[in-house]
Parts: sequence; structure tokens; C-alpha cells
Amino acid sequence: MPRYHIWTVGCQMNEADSAKLAAGLHRLGWLETARPEEADLIVLNTCSVRQKAEERAVSKLGLLRRLKARRNGELKIAVMGCMVGLSSQHLRERFPFVDVFARPQAFADVLATVLPEEDLGGEFWPSTFPEPTGPAAYVPVVHGCNKFCTFCIVPYRRGRERSRPIAEVAHEVAVLAERGVREVTLLGQTVEAYGHDLPERPSLADLFRAIHDTPGLERIRFLTSYPKDMTDAVIRSVGELPKVCEYFNIPVQSGDDAVLARMRRGYTLDEYRSVVEKIRRWVPGAAISTDVIVGFCGETEEQFRHTYDLLAELRFDKVHVAAYSPRPGTIASRTMTDDVPQAVKMERLHAIEELQEGIAAQINAGLVGTVQEVLIEGEKGAKLNGRTRANKIAHFFGRGRPGDTASVLIEKSSAWSLQGRQVVPGPKVGRPVGPGTV
Ligand code: SF4
Repeated sequence: MPRYHIWTVGCQMNEADSAKLAAGLHRLGWLETARPEEADLIVLNTCSVRQKAEERAVSKLGLLRRLKARRNGELKIAVMGCMVGLSSQHLRERFPFVDVFARPQAFADVLATVLPEEDLGGEFWPSTFPEPTGPAAYVPVVHGCNKFCTFCIVPYRRGRERSRPIAEVAHEVAVLAERGVREVTLLGQTVEAYGHDLPERPSLADLFRAIHDTPGLERIRFLTSYPKDMTDAVIRSVGELPKVCEYFNIPVQSGDDAVLARMRRGYTLDEYRSVVEKIRRWVPGAAISTDVIVGFCGETEEQFRHTYDLLAELRFDKVHVAAYSPRPGTIASRTMTDDVPQAVKMERLHAIEELQEGIAAQINAGLVGTVQEVLIEGEKGAKLNGRTRANKIAHFFGRGRPGDTASVLIEKSSAWSLQGRQVVPGPKVGRPVGPGTV
């Protein structure tokens, strides 16, 4: 049987795309191999949101060029994902040994290199669902992005927002749940944009309701939120629907209004604060994470200090921080100067990492003595591990299998994880309890 190997870098959407491509290949009788040298088809699913991600793909392509030369043309190589723009001419010139350059989710283009005779149109892709690799799975619900933040390449590579019909998403979630998935994460670059392009204009909250009672499904998450699209209805539905986890990822990107305007984020800090305030009011116990870029074009020391102060004020559970790197083709790369020295960017990045480590350690320490519901995902040594509803990693002594939920008494914490032991029977989740028994 022919074999394939997929290498994925980048966001959860890329992981979901790779899983879907793999499901299509399985359906056609292909086997996966972890060893690229055994594969008949190697797919690099690439990311170009940061320069580093692109450099990793380029270095991988150097290895593949040698591998392909050794295999006398038997090996097919596909490059898929955000590195591939509308025109792939420059990529074809630079990497002539690559058989196909396919845009994000252009699965048919990848398969055409190895199965040119096969007709894979119609219902083939809509009825191809990734085989779960554990109790949690990603489900893309809206593709693309209409926002055009000045630093971001995504709209140019993934195109405009396109929502999947509710019935199609609900069917996929039902199939995943039948196959043992207990938690789905609904994905979109701006997930609250879900539905605005569909005839009935359903909202993300409508989608939550449509899948909420799927038999076997226990948790619903959603990623990534765009502050301006976050409606009261979505926030309230998270508070009301028991299966929707009280976790929000809302990138702020900068704590300075002038920088936000240069980024064309479309909101002010006061508007952002108001979203966070509503979440904390209407969804008690909600965890919130955010993304920040430091060293964006023209960011002064004072403007950086505003970002630092905002993070200290809002005290997020997690902060993903990145140093700005210009992406060719974006508005910023065409019209602004990347004028913050790399050393200064790294200083700012480390300052935020240090600040956040302290905040996360304090927030997590506040959970010691509470019981948290943990969805078991695996085990390491003598301990099971999984995530709480607030998306915190927990390691604990107990019994159970992946997909089970356990009530875990939190006994220790760090900035990155929680530790404890299972208590039976589980007292009310989230409240401090006394000693329990395993
Ligand atoms: S909202 Fe902005 S940062 Fe997010 S994907 Fe769209 S353009 Fe990129």
C-alpha cells in the first residue's frame, strides 16, 4: 500500500487541515508513516505567519530535495498551506523538485499529484472526517479572514471568511462523538465571524446550541476570538450552556491605542476592556488568554510600557507573545518601517514573559484546594494528564482512560500547570474541598 507522511507547522487550523488530508488519503487506501524516507508522498503543511515558521519549512525542503534525488523521482512532494499564495511562480523557481504547491485546504490539488485519474469532487471532502487521535478534536467552522490587520498574511493566503453550514458542522461533530471524541474546539481565524455569510445568518451562539446536545459530546471550545466580533450573545451563551467551556482566547496585540490603529485592529483599548469586563461579569471563573506582538513598526518604549501595564492590569491566564517580523505582502511590510531593533524586541518579549509567569503562577495558586473537572488525555509515569474546563494542564494521581472526566483536587500549581489527585465521588467542581479518596 502507498504511504504518506505529513509534516505540519503553525496554528490549530493547519493541524485540522492536515488531519483532514490524512483522512482523505486513508479513505483512498493510503497508510501513514512516521519515516519520511519510506513515504511515497510527503506533504509539508506550512505556516508563514512568522518568519521563523517559514524558515523551518525552507530548511525541511533542503532535506527533502536530497531525499527526492536519492529516490529517483519515486517520491512526490507537496507544499501546502500559508506559504503558498495566489501565484506560486517564485516558489516553483526556488524549489523546482516540489511536485505541487497547494493553497490552504486545496486538498484536491495535493491528491491530484498521486491520483490524477481519481475524481474527488462532489461529496468526497465534505464526507471525509479526520480519524480522532484522542478525546479532543478540532473542527474548522469558518475559513479565512476579512480583517486585514496590517501585520498579518492570513487574509492573503486563506482568503475571505467562509462559514460551513450548521448542519454540516453538526454532522461532523456527531461523527466525531460517535468515534470517541468528547471535546471539540470550533475553529476560525475570527471564530465569532461564524455565519454572517450564510443565508440564515446564524451566530456562533446558534452553532453552540445546535451541537450542544450531541450524544457523547461533553465539552465545546472555540478559537480564536476577534475582540470586535465578540457579541454579548456569545458571551452569555458561554455562561449559560453547560458544555461550552469558560475559556476565551482574545488577542489584544498591543496595549496602546496608537499602535492598535497602526495595526488596523479596529478597536480601542476601552472597547477591549469592556469585552473582558463582560466576560468576567457574565461567565464567573472564566479563563482568558491573549496574544501580543512586541516591537511592531514604530513602537516606542512608552507604547510598549502601555502593553506591559495593560497585561498587569487585566491579568490574563496566559499570554502568547511574539516579536514582530515583517511578512512580505502585508500592509505593514509595504507601508511601514520595521524600525525596532531585534535586541529591543527580544528585551520586550522577555519582560512580558517574566511578568506573565508571575501572574499565571498567582492565578493558578488560587486554584489549589479546589476540585477541577479534568478531561483525561493521556498518562506519563504514574500520573494521568488532561485539561480543566479553563484549559489548564493538570497532572494527577488517579484512575481512568483518555476520554473519561475526573474530579481532581488541586494540591500544587506552577505558572504552567496544576497537580493533584482524583477525588471520588467528585464534590462540586470549582469549589474548595477537604481531602478526598482515590
Ligand atoms: S483578525 Fe487580523 S490577525 Fe487575525 S487572522 Fe485576521 S488579519 Fe490576521
